[in-house]
Amino acid sequence: MKLGLRGVPAFVIGNDVIEGFDPNRIKSLLDYFLINCPSCKARMRVPKNKGKIKVTCSKCSEKFQLDTNK
Ligand SMILES: [Zn+2]
Repeated sequence: MKLGLRGVPAFVIGNDVIEGFDPNRIKSLLDYFLINCPSCKARMRVPKNKGKIKVTCSKCSEKFQLDTNK
């Protein structure tokens, strides 16, 4: 309600609001998880189960390695 959505199911995953039921969209969002940049604490979404990946922060350009299999 506070998001102004009425009458349809709505999901909030991370920063994304999904109106209605769209399993493919939801699944694609659930294949990701949110992390905080170790430098500027910006939230960003990274894929799951991709092993060790290199992430570059879109805000501060910090580069770091992340184990996405956890
Ligand atoms: Zn950053």
